[in-house]
Amino acid sequence: MGRYQLRCLQCNRIISDHYTLRCHDDALLRTEYQERKLIIKDLPGIWKFSEWLPVSGSMEIGDAPITYKSEGIARELGLHNLYISFSGYLPERGAFIRTCSFKELEAPATFQRSIEHDKKTLVIPSAGNTARAFAQIASKAGFPLVIVIPTSDLFRLWITNDPSDSIRVIAVDGDYYDAIMLGDRIGQMNGFQSEGGARNVARRDGMGVVMLDSVLSMKRLPEHYFQAIGSGTGGIAAYEASLRLIGDGRFGNHIPRLHLAQDSVFAPIFNAWSRNRSKIIPEDVPDKSRIKEMYTDILSNRNPPYSLRGGVADALASASGLVYAIGNEEACDAKRLFEDSEGVDILRPAAIAVAALCRAVDNNNVDSGDTILLNITGGGLSRVKEDYTLNHLDADVVVTDGNIDEVMEVL
Ligand SMILES: *Cc1c(COP(=O)(O)O)cnc(C)c1O
Ligand SMILES: [Zn+2]
Repeated sequence: MGRYQLRCLQCNRIISDHYTLRCHDDALLRTEYQERKLIIKDLPGIWKFSEWLPVSGSMEIGDAPITYKSEGIARELGLHNLYISFSGYLPERGAFIRTCSFKELEAPATFQRSIEHDKKTLVIPSAGNTARAFAQIASKAGFPLVIVIPTSDLFRLWITNDPSDSIRVIAVDGDYYDAIMLGDRIGQMNGFQSEGGARNVARRDGMGVVMLDSVLSMKRLPEHYFQAIGSGTGGIAAYEASLRLIGDGRFGNHIPRLHLAQDSVFAPIFNAWSRNRSKIIPEDVPDKSRIKEMYTDILSNRNPPYSLRGGVADALASASGLVYAIGNEEACDAKRLFEDSEGVDILRPAAIAVAALCRAVDNNNVDSGDTILLNITGGGLSRVKEDYTLNHLDADVVVTDGNIDEVMEVL
């Protein structure tokens, strides 16, 4: 075995990595690292965890999240061991993720993995935050990148770096799922590589850095993990990182309970899980016309990686998971509570996680002394706007009817 190998979670086959996204079946692959201990390397940002990233080398860019013990909202909620993982921009605490979301943990590891295997152009579908993170990294390093994004989400596509002509932006008149479908088609063309979403182990292990960083502060695994989800990939990532940390032996041997939160307007995972279904059925998925009623459409995903082996349902089952459906008003209240008590603005999806924590406290799903990790998946945007100019990227082409010919001309 090299530094790492991939294992298919269905047939158990060991697969050597060529930016491999699947085996012959539909299951997720999981990285198995030769190093069983959490090693902290003397490298910047996320790369200090690179022993547990599916790469050989590292890059200069790639900021890490921070973890700190909450005093503000912890007091409001009567919690004694609440830790906050913050992926965003909060310079006085040492957080420098300028695109303000944890998608920036996924992008550098993915580019590095891609570069080490083939030099194809990555194709990334996004509802905005992923595109922003990948564009930020691609522009800095000049990596070729194709972004596929719903037209209605284009306003989220800005970077603080100078734009690079290695990036192509394809806007789709449709929703996030339509962008995923078009991205898949482009990704199959010669010279292009679909980034892979939840199937991409670099993305999952990149997000897993949240859990790795947190145990450095907590000195143990948390008993509870709270996160807002659309696809749930971050939940899978937290679970997988926990398994590795249990394997290390120094951080306890209990899998943190997953508390995953969806927007109640569009909550296919909540619907399936709360009805004890191992698959999402059409009835669980609202019509896409509802997306505009959501508190945050970042969390809309019509086809999350739920039922496949190693997916969200498996992670929830192994981690005694709970799924919440959070309403608009609850989310607004939670956002205000967090911002007033912690002194930093957060993105709307993060407020959904805060609301889930508030509800868990009310319902006694957590005890006041429990060690809790709250993943603030995005925040600090108002400070970024003060410190940087936001460079918006325009669409190179707008696709109205799935017509890929117009797309070919700009690639
Ligand atoms: C993408 C995103 C999420 C949801 O992440 P998944 O684990 O992929 O469902 C939550 N918060 C923010 C800020 C995001 O950008
Ligand atoms: Zn297999």
